[in-house]
Amino acid sequence: MRRIAVIGSGQAGLINAHGLLKAGYEVDLYSDRTGKQWMEESKPTGTAVRFAMALEYEEELGLNLWKEDAPPTVGVNFVLCMQPGTPFLVLNGRLTGGAMAIDLRLQSCRWLEEFERRGGKLHIEKVDVARLEQIAAEHDLTIVASGKGGLSELFPIDEKRSIYKTPQRYLSMVNVTNLNDTRDYRRLPARYYELPKAGETIWTPYFHKDIGPSWNLFSEARPGSPLDRFRDAKTGEEVLERFKSLIRDVYPWDWEWAKNMRLSDPNGWLTGEITPTIRKPVGKLPSGRVITFVGDAGMAFDPIGAQGANNGNKMARHITQAVVSRGDAPLDAAWIESMFDEFYESHGQPAYWFNNTLLEGIPPAGQALLAAQYGSDGRLDNHSAAQKIANEFCKNFSDPRYMTHALNDVGAAHKVIAQQSGKSAGSLVMKGKMAILANQVRWRLTNHAPFGFQNQVWE
Ligand SMILES: Cc1cc2nc3c(=O)[nH]c(=O)nc-3n(C[C@H](O)[C@H](O)[C@H](O)COP(=O)(O)OP(=O)(O)OC[C@H]3O[C@@H](n4cnc5c(N)ncnc54)[C@H](O)[C@@H]3O)c2cc1C
Repeated sequence: MRRIAVIGSGQAGLINAHGLLKAGYEVDLYSDRTGKQWMEESKPTGTAVRFAMALEYEEELGLNLWKEDAPPTVGVNFVLCMQPGTPFLVLNGRLTGGAMAIDLRLQSCRWLEEFERRGGKLHIEKVDVARLEQIAAEHDLTIVASGKGGLSELFPIDEKRSIYKTPQRYLSMVNVTNLNDTRDYRRLPARYYELPKAGETIWTPYFHKDIGPSWNLFSEARPGSPLDRFRDAKTGEEVLERFKSLIRDVYPWDWEWAKNMRLSDPNGWLTGEITPTIRKPVGKLPSGRVITFVGDAGMAFDPIGAQGANNGNKMARHITQAVVSRGDAPLDAAWIESMFDEFYESHGQPAYWFNNTLLEGIPPAGQALLAAQYGSDGRLDNHSAAQKIANEFCKNFSDPRYMTHALNDVGAAHKVIAQQSGKSAGSLVMKGKMAILANQVRWRLTNHAPFGFQNQVWE
């Protein structure tokens, strides 16, 4: 039987290890920490909201262990503000198949237990290059799933595919509880606030390792903007206080709801920067042996489009299927390259393009879609053209092949609008723009929120 090694026990490594185990291979998983250490000593790598397509694979692997308990994010409440404190445009789109963000520490802990229970071999050790040589010598394929930095540097950066050379946002994240809220978590959307010149702030319903249903909050600051206030925060409490001041100053409509929020646990926070990077899939060890990667180790995303963990699941599925299809033929450098190219063309590049579209700011085609959906409220019984377009927009998070082209191409955007509405796209876009302007006037005169803005519990 073929032996495969996976280095790393985060989202991507564990999904890949479980997939290979299920396909009948002998799998060795190397982790620098135990499940207990994940739970008690680690920070989560990110929020890691997963959408339908990535969740389907977890379901298939019998790893969707929290589906009865975790908040199944029903949609996205997207609020575009042209300046702090002033909503300009709202989208309330439903997510087909929902989404889920499980605390990665709980997830790794439970998936490690399952891995051993199902017959995988777990090794607790921090792998270095010398050890990687031994591991690669003993296995038919070695997959590095160690996340960004460290061993990922064994894979050269693909300069052609990596568009950015520097981070595009300063990131801060915190897990919070004690919001002023008695609403049913099963009916809440994520909240995605966009200030084109400043950055993004995203609230996600979250399943925390100790307290269960709660929230995750993260911010994507453009340098020097009103969101850029976390750089010198050194503790979770400091990050929390900065988030409170951010909400009070920039998103005041959330202040009453959030003003008493507390950290969910002392380790549940992050600050830092990520340069979106695509690496070449063949790593050469000093001996000449080759290894490959899965997840952030090979494709690191800025979290703006919630793609990193989703892409990791898709890559893991692709690798497993490719290994199976390869039969007994060697899993060599040429195979690794063509296997990854195939993945990149089919899933990696669309995810990267979607993410980059958001980093650059929604282009005119995407703006046309946003105008045409104006009036969506996220309700299940809303069958209007606006609601259908809002829902289409949100499908792209799960499968960026779906709409990224339409977000970037006015003709394609108009086609989507016409298909969903049965009307001329131009007239719907114009109608949306007029309604947005009318609501702006109303907002300024009466301080009455634009349509759909406060409607955040969806039947
Ligand atoms: C603020 C933020 C929000 C995010 N939100 C989303 C989102 O909503 N949706 C989404 O899809 N993605 C999101 N992401 C990205 C997502 O969290 C990551 O893509 C994903 O968690 C990466 O998983 P991974 O397994 O590749 O790497 P990691 O989670 O980094 O896991 C790698 C693990 O390998 C182990 N390891 C490392 N080195 C070694 C070694 N030498 N030997 C042995 N073991 C080792 C460590 O235990 C390490 O934790 C977000 C990221 C951030 C920062």
